[in-house]
Amino acid sequence: MNVEWSDRIKNLPPYLFAAIDAAKQAVQAKGMDIIDLGVGDPDLPTPGLIIERLSSAARDSKNHQYPSYIGMLSFREAVAKWYKRRFSVSIDPRRESLTLIGSKEGIGHVPLAFINPGDLVLVPDPGYPVYSVATTFAGGVVYTMPLKRPNGFFPDLEAIPADVCTRAKLMFLNYPNNPTTAVATREFFARVVEFASRHNIIVCHDNAYSEIYFDDRRPISFMEVDGAREVGVEFHSLSKTFNMTGWRIGSVVGNESVIAGLGKVKTNIDSGVFQAVQEAGITALEADDQIVADARAIYQERRNVLVPGLKSIGIDVYPTDATFYVWMDVPSSFTSASLASHLIEKAGIVATPGNGFGNAGEGYLRMTLCAPKERLAEAVDRIKTIGI
Ligand SMILES: *Cc1c(COP(=O)(O)O)cnc(C)c1O
Repeated sequence: MNVEWSDRIKNLPPYLFAAIDAAKQAVQAKGMDIIDLGVGDPDLPTPGLIIERLSSAARDSKNHQYPSYIGMLSFREAVAKWYKRRFSVSIDPRRESLTLIGSKEGIGHVPLAFINPGDLVLVPDPGYPVYSVATTFAGGVVYTMPLKRPNGFFPDLEAIPADVCTRAKLMFLNYPNNPTTAVATREFFARVVEFASRHNIIVCHDNAYSEIYFDDRRPISFMEVDGAREVGVEFHSLSKTFNMTGWRIGSVVGNESVIAGLGKVKTNIDSGVFQAVQEAGITALEADDQIVADARAIYQERRNVLVPGLKSIGIDVYPTDATFYVWMDVPSSFTSASLASHLIEKAGIVATPGNGFGNAGEGYLRMTLCAPKERLAEAVDRIKTIGI
């Protein structure tokens, strides 16, 4: 049989991380000790009380059948309560929220609900790659919004041409931002609401990193801003907040019609999250904030090793106020990719080249804080030794 891929997957951009993986394996085969600061995946374990709840909920046979597509009401109520407690935002759990199989699932599916072939989607560059892939899978066309350092890594909305604003149906945003670490201001979100309502564009804000912040500077929710509920939704995830990336649970809250559209897609193609995982999610959302504060303190200590360490050897690093990433300038003698290769081959350090997140990421490199502080200090020492 002649198995031929659809144009949809044939036309995907080359998998950037393949080259890095190959280089990593080659270096590992030589016996070199690898410090992996590539993938953004917490190295800390899920807090014990969440695991306890999962194991008791897994024994309950009422959880063994198909879960509801849109999520258990009790989980969605816990999300609404958490939004109230954390952001002072009121959410109607029945009409304004859905449980997601991780926020990636909702982000991946949302264009299917609103994008017809040829419709434009505004996508940040650099950005989480799922925004553009999900757009093209739905037949939409990506219009990239460059995030530039002089603009604080916010898109310049006024620079988007009028005809693009007319054709655009949806916009993705993500603050605290992966990969640049930038944090949104209330003023920026207010401009987004004004822009989106003027042009009738659905805003999909990805708030996966709202709880990973430092120096007690708490990021805000898009839903806190006046008018946000009229124009958009916010994705949230338990993955980064509670070290639950493997569990696959998140949520989306906000505009009732957008939630209904995404819910319709989900009803037709998936079967929701294992109820025992949703029950464990309730425990996480209702837990004392201390469990998240403990993780934050660990990341902050690590940031306080890596950022000043890189600065001390002459690397220009954007200050990390939130997320568990460090976003740095690539010296002019390198490209993003050549610096990433240099670091793996000479120092055994895995980092992600900025162009992996879009063209505007060229000239940058991302490292994660998902390794013990001793390893981060070791990484700085190795870079100092090899020189860049
Ligand atoms: C990690 C991440 C997500 C996805 O998290 P899930 O595990 O699918 O909930 C979404 N957006 C960004 C920007 C991320 O970095």
